[in-house]
Amino acid sequence: MEQEGEFDVVVVGNGLFGSAAARHLAVLGESVALVGPGEPADALTHDGVFASHYDEGRLTRRFDRRPSWAPVTRRAVDGYRALEEESGIDFHHPVGALISGPAGDLTADTDENPIPILLERGIDHTLYEPGDRSWRDAYPQIDLPTDYYVIHEPAPAGHINPRRLIAAQNLVAESNGAMIVRELVTEVVDDGSGARITTESGRRIGAEKVLVAAGAFTNFNGLVLEPLPLTIETEVVAFGRVSPHEAARLASTPTVSYSIDDPVIDSIYMVPPVLYPDGDHYIKLGANTTSDLFPETLPEIQDWFRTGDSDFALPSFESALTSLWPTTEFLGFESGRCILCRTPSGDPMIRKVEERVFVATAGNGGGAKSSDTWGELAAGLVHDGRWPADVVRLDG
Ligand SMILES: Cc1cc2nc3c(=O)[nH]c(=O)nc-3n(C[C@H](O)[C@H](O)[C@H](O)COP(=O)(O)OP(=O)(O)OC[C@H]3O[C@@H](n4cnc5c(N)ncnc54)[C@H](O)[C@@H]3O)c2cc1C
Repeated sequence: MEQEGEFDVVVVGNGLFGSAAARHLAVLGESVALVGPGEPADALTHDGVFASHYDEGRLTRRFDRRPSWAPVTRRAVDGYRALEEESGIDFHHPVGALISGPAGDLTADTDENPIPILLERGIDHTLYEPGDRSWRDAYPQIDLPTDYYVIHEPAPAGHINPRRLIAAQNLVAESNGAMIVRELVTEVVDDGSGARITTESGRRIGAEKVLVAAGAFTNFNGLVLEPLPLTIETEVVAFGRVSPHEAARLASTPTVSYSIDDPVIDSIYMVPPVLYPDGDHYIKLGANTTSDLFPETLPEIQDWFRTGDSDFALPSFESALTSLWPTTEFLGFESGRCILCRTPSGDPMIRKVEERVFVATAGNGGGAKSSDTWGELAAGLVHDGRWPADVVRLDG
């Protein structure tokens, strides 16, 4: 098979990190091929990779517990408008965010707690003490336990649509000359004088450098020589279906993240109603569950996406949804499956792994909101080894 083209950089993986990196590389003047498959048409019969971005809603806000992420998140959020304008694709819903929990979770004097962090970083917010229910004057559709603190972070906090964010990144990358190939990569080779990738159909694409941004699938399909220390964790989500009328009425509700006292689920986050590709509107909840799995092989991950038991937590999710939205009429509930990719440090892994091969992966459960900047950092590293002085060096 003939080798096609000779690009400056091939980016493997058209997910949140890869699409951002490809755009930034193209804007820096690199010739770029971005290679990654589209979404599976039918998860049950799909034999390839899956991803963490097959959804319509991801929480975003400037508050982040991890100090090393703070400048990254802020830079990404501050850049949404420009990307929307340049691409003509809207993906950001700046409806604000509520963060809530009992005193110990929010106020204890540690580096990780929201109240000290919000104050220290000068992030605009309003704090409501336990028992102060005046936040409900603005949001009577939502309820939270009376003895919880409630913090409101205003716009630009809210939610983003990961599918539309990737579409925006792709459009701007293409308008800066990038080529997009919708195929699975089955091999990455650095042969000492150059790099190349091979796709599922046998296409070979040559490049000066390769950036692997394959999320939870980075250690599979011959993308890296040695397995990287990545942990894969299953994630269960639940969807509460509402009528178009309810969705329109409730669409400007802030996102909510809160602790819950439940034997099965913990640390809930909620995205208010958005339209899904099936034509219905859903309110989404996600949470850690007591039965989260840690698959280690590609077949184990594929089994999870095809037939994993995500319904076991549905009664807990239903109860959480109806308590959170006491006056909303739900038309049905269903569960969904997703996957998270984590590193030992809790930070994304952005590093050189061979002379010509780089990796950018592991959002550790919260990489969507700041993906544009994680991609920008990876692009800078690949382009000329640069890393901004104000961002802690992160490599997982
Ligand atoms: C249910 C759920 C809820 C979340 N909620 C939030 C949230 O509210 N806020 C937030 O900030 N973050 C959230 N996240 C995290 C966020 O979605 C991830 O951090 C982010 O998607 C990571 O981006 P990524 O590019 O590393 O991986 P992905 O987005 O998964 O992209 C990886 C890409 O690589 C491709 N790929 C894999 N293997 C190959 C191969 N061999 N060849 C070519 N391409 C390949 C895949 O097709 C995919 O497109 C959530 C994640 C989940 C699962």
